[in-house]
Amino acid sequence: MNSYFKCIKGCEGQYSLTDIIYRCPKCGSLLQVTHDTEALKAKLNGEGWNKLFASRMGSTKWPYGSGVWRYKELVAPEIDDDSIVSMYEGNSNLFYAKRFGQMFGVKDLWIKMCGNTHTGSFKDLGMTVLVSMVNQMIKKGKNIKAVACASTGDTSAALAAYAAYAGIPSIVFLPANKITTAQLVQPMSNGSIVLALDTDFDGCMKIVQQVTRNNEIYLANSMNSLRVEGQKTIAPEIVQQFDMEVPDTIIIPGGNLGNVSALGKGFKEMKELGMISKMPRIIVAQAQNANPLYTSYKNGFESFSSISAKKTLASAIQIGDPVSVDKAIATLKEFNGIVEQASEEELAEAAALADRTGMYSCPHTGVALSVFTKLASRGDIASDERVVIISTAHGLKFSEFKVGYHEETISGINCSHANKPIELAADSDLVLKVLEEEIKKLK
Ligand SMILES: *Cc1c(COP(=O)(O)O)cnc(C)c1O
Ligand SMILES: [Zn+2]
Repeated sequence: MNSYFKCIKGCEGQYSLTDIIYRCPKCGSLLQVTHDTEALKAKLNGEGWNKLFASRMGSTKWPYGSGVWRYKELVAPEIDDDSIVSMYEGNSNLFYAKRFGQMFGVKDLWIKMCGNTHTGSFKDLGMTVLVSMVNQMIKKGKNIKAVACASTGDTSAALAAYAAYAGIPSIVFLPANKITTAQLVQPMSNGSIVLALDTDFDGCMKIVQQVTRNNEIYLANSMNSLRVEGQKTIAPEIVQQFDMEVPDTIIIPGGNLGNVSALGKGFKEMKELGMISKMPRIIVAQAQNANPLYTSYKNGFESFSSISAKKTLASAIQIGDPVSVDKAIATLKEFNGIVEQASEEELAEAAALADRTGMYSCPHTGVALSVFTKLASRGDIASDERVVIISTAHGLKFSEFKVGYHEETISGINCSHANKPIELAADSDLVLKVLEEEIKKLK
């Protein structure tokens, strides 16, 4: 069974997964990993694959306990098991957002908690595949000195952790002062070479592409389609969690647009193998301050123009020139897609309201939650649909956002759910009196 890289625009040529290549040499488009579907079909039918993958859930048999490597045959069948660098990522829970959904008339709303993982974001899913492949290449004698990425904070955290686990040097390029404290401290702790550049993400992306040109430093951004292979396992994992029922609608925040492309690829391949028969609708949620895909959607995808992204609280999607835009548009066309946006106030209010129902939402999840409320309110999501929102990171990585909201220091935003601590003398009579008033307010 052989997997290989191939141009997404269909140019001739197949490239080994151990070649150091990120773009089609003929047309410059991105590549994607293509698997030997015929061999997979010959091995098992759809039901057979479903049974096999189900049997591995929760296993401790290396590497199948991972939510990514459970699907090894669909992800990267050629990697030796002992080259795999895994922290048993994936396996994230579905949060039943009962109260939040009901507020908008939708009974069957679920949040896929991709931030409940080792480095706190879905980036772990792709990074396990990429670092495993690099590990195998180094073992087989390839001259790779280090692995590098540009990042809005979460990719670098994942790269740093996986590289440290494998003992491979890593380099991260971060836009100075544009990521959270937690995101900065993560690669510092894992021993990466951390470069804070005086530019934005798009600027860092340009530099890292130049630095990795001589092929001695391996590029770990999502233009490297190995990452997409790991991230696409969100699709089969969600379906397995619903006893092989495909949800009606999935909402996913989009920045560089690798993740939405991965989600679509996951569903398409499951359908090809007969694992599912239905496809979901896919909705991309963008921050209004970084919305080039939304603008393109509004003109029917007739054209796409990159923009200079404005500052947004959803810092991981502050991207104006998304590298995977072609893949994302193809995915949206195929999955009956919609793109909707959320303003700074809308994303902050949606995240805070959801928190009031037990979540702890990062700002990107806030963008998706806000888009959900808009689509449900205008009837683009029906009350009986099963909807899954992809939560991309853990709220704990975004304390500045949370604190700013509750201290009402985010300028231009009406923080209507702000909830400050009450400072009181240690006097039980006073405490009781205040509590009586506060409990009344909650009713
Ligand atoms: C990377 C990231 C995104 C965006 O994913 P893309 O593949 O760049 O579209 C969204 N949210 C968080 C928290 C991220 O880290
Ligand atoms: Zn090409």
